[in-house]
Amino acid sequence: AYGGLSFKEVEEKRHKFLSPSLQTYFFFPENPFYLTRARMQYIYDANDTRYVDLTGQNTSISVGHNHPRVVAAIKRQMESVVHCSTMFYNESPVLLAEQLVATVPNISNSKEDWVVHLVSSGSEAVDLAIMLARAYTGNFDVLALRSSYHGLLSTPMGLTGLNTCKQNIAGGFGVKHCMNPDMFRGQFAGDPQAPDKYAQDVRDVIQYSTPGKVAAFIFEPVIMVGGLHPLPQGYLPKACEYVREAGGLIISDEVQTGNGRPGSHFWAVEKYGVQPDIIVTGKGLSNGLPIGAVMMRREVAESMAHKVFFSTYGSNPTVCAAATEVMRILREDKTVSHITNVAELFLESFLRIQQKYPSIIGDVRALGLLLALDVVKDPVSRQPDRESAQKLLTLIRERGVIMTTGGLGKNVLRMNPPLCVTPEDVKLTENAILESIETHYGKSL
Ligand code: PMP
Repeated sequence: AYGGLSFKEVEEKRHKFLSPSLQTYFFFPENPFYLTRARMQYIYDANDTRYVDLTGQNTSISVGHNHPRVVAAIKRQMESVVHCSTMFYNESPVLLAEQLVATVPNISNSKEDWVVHLVSSGSEAVDLAIMLARAYTGNFDVLALRSSYHGLLSTPMGLTGLNTCKQNIAGGFGVKHCMNPDMFRGQFAGDPQAPDKYAQDVRDVIQYSTPGKVAAFIFEPVIMVGGLHPLPQGYLPKACEYVREAGGLIISDEVQTGNGRPGSHFWAVEKYGVQPDIIVTGKGLSNGLPIGAVMMRREVAESMAHKVFFSTYGSNPTVCAAATEVMRILREDKTVSHITNVAELFLESFLRIQQKYPSIIGDVRALGLLLALDVVKDPVSRQPDRESAQKLLTLIRERGVIMTTGGLGKNVLRMNPPLCVTPEDVKLTENAILESIETHYGKSL
């Protein structure tokens, strides 16, 4: 509950008691948002002003802030037991694992069963996935993509391909970065052979930068923090073929892209027709409580089963009860059709905005309820316009809509709202963007 501290008091205490590397001011450095309460797709500030929450940092909210069914599930579990469920039998984690396993893609038509390892964050899940891939294959090198984000524990930080998130530590032993198959600004953008050419970079990295054997290839099906780039169709099947030839496992990091958000599929990787060996998830899976999950073939999990591997809060009963309820909601037909419909409305709306202002909005990128507008200095050079994007963000906020920026150029307006956003919110967003563009650019339009 909102305890009534003023903005000033919170600001002072933050600076005095919290570490300076905890940057909350990232998106609104001049005017941080004081979040006091939230409900479904809306967040409220200290004046109780309502905003549509389209923020990307928190795809941790999937079915809606404080969703009543999830709150009820949490309350039921809290009143029953919250003891360490890695040490005792408890129904909560097994019910969640059963729900998760039911979503595993079976593109390769294999009969293998899958299991789930539950941890407490996306970074932990990525870290474990890499350990498993190394244990299972006996290989060491891991391929990741430039511009990707996989978390900030030391191994995930090594995998992350953005200098802004990297400390000067030895976190990335064995990590080799391949080209981001960027179809807008990348080296092969505009080339009809681009997906193939980018995939060949994966083969080249294997040949020139590894012993010819790799443990894994990890990717986000949509590069999120790095500017919301959906991987192009045709890229993954080829890239993954090279990885498999080198003995590596395919790891889809679906911390942001999965959990029903694509609409058409539960996991974004399914859109690309490749069978992953491991799926990593977290965030929206529990609608805001700390969770991470590694889903994998049983055989892969067995490669670490000769030693103890657990954590105190991994598979915490309350978190799992929340996540199980989230999974039930996400897998209902009405949720799936809602996501698909509203995602379509968003995309149409953004394409209209681009059509109206082609010299400002260089690109519209989307996959389900992951959406972005790429703000450029001009449509020919496609140079990122960081200042305008930042200004637009603030003007849009003044009109009751919160979104974030992404990419190293910080020029990409990035949105991944709670999945319960409505057509009215789409309209409100469109108006807020149009008005903000007109205000910012004024007569120069
Ligand atoms: N992978 C991806 C794709 C992410 O977006 C994130 C978080 N932004 C992580 C991993 C790390 O998750 P966490 O912050 O829960 O450790």
